[in-house]
Amino acid sequence: MKLQGKVALVTGGSRGIGAAIALKLASLGCHVAINYAGNVNKAEETLARIQSLGVDAKIYQANVANYDEVEVMTKQIIKDFGHLDIIINNAGITADNLMMRMDQQSFDSVIDVNLKGTWNVCKSVTRSILKQREGVIINLSSVVGMNGNIGQANYAASKAGVIGLTKSLAKEFASRKIRVNAIAPGYIKSDMTAKLSDDVTEKVLENIPLGQLGEVEDIANAVAFLVSDEARYITGQVLVVDGGMAI
Ligand code: NAP
Repeated sequence: MKLQGKVALVTGGSRGIGAAIALKLASLGCHVAINYAGNVNKAEETLARIQSLGVDAKIYQANVANYDEVEVMTKQIIKDFGHLDIIINNAGITADNLMMRMDQQSFDSVIDVNLKGTWNVCKSVTRSILKQREGVIINLSSVVGMNGNIGQANYAASKAGVIGLTKSLAKEFASRKIRVNAIAPGYIKSDMTAKLSDDVTEKVLENIPLGQLGEVEDIANAVAFLVSDEARYITGQVLVVDGGMAI
């Protein structure tokens, strides 16, 4: 798939990894729909940076955990841009706690945004993308979804679920030439990881063979590969981008 003129939706594209993905896709000629939850200032900042690259872009507020909001958003994107070719399910949250202290609300909210949110977006575009017979979906998982993590039972479950969802859709959509893959980042510097204590970060770093924390651009570069024609024969895979942390 050539990226020039393609339309990409990046959920959680206002900041962090999502903003880096949105910028990377724009730099490759994609028009970009940036979804965000509530941080309109960051969304507008990212929008301005993307527009300065000469492509079309718009911001869309929607809670990915809410199907009705997602459907209104994706319909509007297709109306605004004419089509939707690349879907990056990146929106995600954490609500870490040890199982002893984790309440139901923390479990439900993380599953609702990370897993149900990914399903919601995929569901809302399924009809149009299958009809189009061209398109790519990338879902953001995590190494934590593969290996588990202390204090992240909710998050790990949501990200493991994203892998099952990705593989199932890859099988279902393959006959229409729609590829569906996941990316499992390790520890990437963003607002999400800035919440962790220096001690935790130090410990994580000790377990990264390449000896450094990841940058948001490391994930954006992996996305650029997976959505490109160079990856035309890759579907249903989980690309781990973690400096070797999960080896
Ligand atoms: P981040 O800096 O916390 O940014 C989260 C983004 O998601 C923001 O754009 C936020 O929008 C959006 N968002 C949150 N809840 C949403 C909702 N209900 N509906 C729509 N958008 C919502 O996170 P990040 O580090 O860039 O992470 C991006 C993705 O990578 C997540 O799925 C995360 O789980 C995954 N990941 C990250 C790491 C890491 O080390 N950072 C590692 C593995 C996987 P607002 O700006 O409007 O709040």
